[in-house]
Amino acid sequence: MKYHEGLYIDGDWRPSAGTGTIDVVNPADEQVIGTVPAGTEQDVDAAVRAARAALPGWAATAPAERAARLTALRDQLAARSEEIARTITAELGCTLAFSRRVQAAVPVAVTGSYAELAAGHSFEERIGNSTVYHEPVGVVGAITPWNYPLHQITNKVAPALAAGCTVVLKPAEDTPLTARLFAECVAAAGVPAGVFNLVTGLGTVAGQALAEHLDVDLVSFTGSTAVGRKIGAIAGGGVKRVALELGGKSANVILPGADLAQAVRINLADVIRNSGQSCNTLSRMLVHADQYEEAVELAAQEAARYLPGDPEDEKSGLGPVVNARQRDRVLGYIRSGLDEGARLVAGGPDAPEGLPTGYYVRPTVFADVTPDMTIAQEEIFGPVVTLLRYESEEEALEIANGTDYGLAGAVWAADEGTAVAFARRLHTGQVDINGGRFNILAPFGGHKQSGVGRELGVHGLAEYLQTKSLQF
Ligand code: NAP
Ligand code: MG
Repeated sequence: MKYHEGLYIDGDWRPSAGTGTIDVVNPADEQVIGTVPAGTEQDVDAAVRAARAALPGWAATAPAERAARLTALRDQLAARSEEIARTITAELGCTLAFSRRVQAAVPVAVTGSYAELAAGHSFEERIGNSTVYHEPVGVVGAITPWNYPLHQITNKVAPALAAGCTVVLKPAEDTPLTARLFAECVAAAGVPAGVFNLVTGLGTVAGQALAEHLDVDLVSFTGSTAVGRKIGAIAGGGVKRVALELGGKSANVILPGADLAQAVRINLADVIRNSGQSCNTLSRMLVHADQYEEAVELAAQEAARYLPGDPEDEKSGLGPVVNARQRDRVLGYIRSGLDEGARLVAGGPDAPEGLPTGYYVRPTVFADVTPDMTIAQEEIFGPVVTLLRYESEEEALEIANGTDYGLAGAVWAADEGTAVAFARRLHTGQVDINGGRFNILAPFGGHKQSGVGRELGVHGLAEYLQTKSLQF
C-alpha cells in the first residue's frame, strides 16, 4: 500500500490544504492498494486560479503548438500503456485483456485524434460580411466516473486542450490512481503549468466545489443522471456552459431475418466485457416472438461461457464490479427482476462459486422481461441482460424508445437498408448497424435523459469553443 502524496496544481505536486484521504480498493481482493489526498474546496479554488492564470497564454498558442503537446501526450500514454492497463485493472476490476485492448488503448487513439484535429481545424470562418472566430470557452471543470477511468478523462481533457481551454479535473474517488498517471503524462508532455490540474477527492466535496466555482466557464460531467441533474442546475444558476454524459438503457433490436446467433453473441460480449459498467451497454435485447425462445437459449449459452474470476488471470471471462455498493446495487436489481416475475435463465444473485472475496457478480440473463419492469427501465450497470419479446416492428420501436434514456443502441436486420430505416426512428444518440464498431471520431452523447452535449471528434471539440463574430 502506498500513500500517493499531492494534487497536481500549477505544474507541481503539492499537498492538499486538508488532511483527508481516500483509500483505493482493489475490487478483486478487497485490499487497499493506495491512498490519495481528498481535496478540499480550498484545493479546488487553488486549481481553478492556476487554470485561470494559465488561460491567456494557452489560448493564444498556435494550434500547431497545442497539437505538438497533444502528440507528446499521446506518446506518453502509449509508452506507459502497460502500467496504465494494470492500474485500471487494479482499481476498477475489469480483465487485464480488456484494460489493454480498450481501457488503455482507446485514450491513446483519442488523444492522437485531437492532436490531428488541433493541427487541421479551422478556428475561423467567413460568413457574409463577418469573420467568425472559434475561441476557447475558458476554464473547464471536468468531473469523471470510474467505469472508463482514462477514456472519460481524455474524452474531456484532449478536446479542451486542443481548443485552447485550461482544465481542472476531479476524477472518480474509486479510480484516482489512473488519473494521477494521466497527470504525470501531461507533465512529461511539456504542457505548461496550470493548463491541466488534478484534484482528487470526493464528489460531494471537491466535485461540488468545482461545479459551483464562479470562475469555471464550462462544467463537463460524466456519471449518474441524479448527479448530472444537480450539476446542470448549478451550471444554469451560474450561467455556465455544461455538458452532461449520463446513463443509458440501450436496446439491441434484432429484426426478423438477422443473423440471430451473431447478434446474441455480440450483445452478451458487449454487456459482460466491462462487467456491464458501460453507459452505452446494450442492456435490453429485443427479439421477435418467432425467434424468442431460440434467442433465450443462445443468450444463456453465451453467458455460461464467461467465468467470473481474477481479472489478471487470462482465463477469467469477467472481473468484479467496482465496489461493494455497486455489487449490492446490481444484486438488488437482480432480485427485483425475480420479484417482478422475470424468468432467470443464467446467473442470479448468489456469489459465483469459489469467489467468497471480491465484488463479483455472475453474468445474468433474464427472459420474459416486460417493458414495465424495473430491470427494463433503470440502468443496472452490471453484467445483466434482459430479453424482451415483440410481435411487430412498431411494437419493437415503441419498446426501444420507451425509456427515459437515449444514449446508444443497435439494430440487426437481413439487410442494411432495413436496419437503417429502423435506426432513424430510434430516439438515441448512436446506433450500431449489424455489429458496426465503435468509432472514436463519431459524436457520442445522449438524447432525452442521457444528457446534453457531445464528446469525441470534431463535435467534441466544438463543445469547448465559443464564437466571436467581427463584421466588416
Ligand atoms: P456519480 O456519483 O454520478 O459519479 C460520477 C462523478 O461525479 C464522480 O467523480 C463523483 O465523485 C462525482 N460526484 C458525485 N457527487 C457529486 C456532486 N454532488 N457534485 C459534483 N460531483 C459529484 O456516479 P457513481 O455513484 O459513481 O455511480 C452510480 C451510477 O451512475 C452507476 O450505477 C451508473 O448507473 C451511473 N454511472 C454512469 C456512468 C456513465 O458513463 N454514464 C458512469 C458511472 C456511473 P465520487 O467518485 O466521489 O462519487
Ligand atoms: Mg458517487
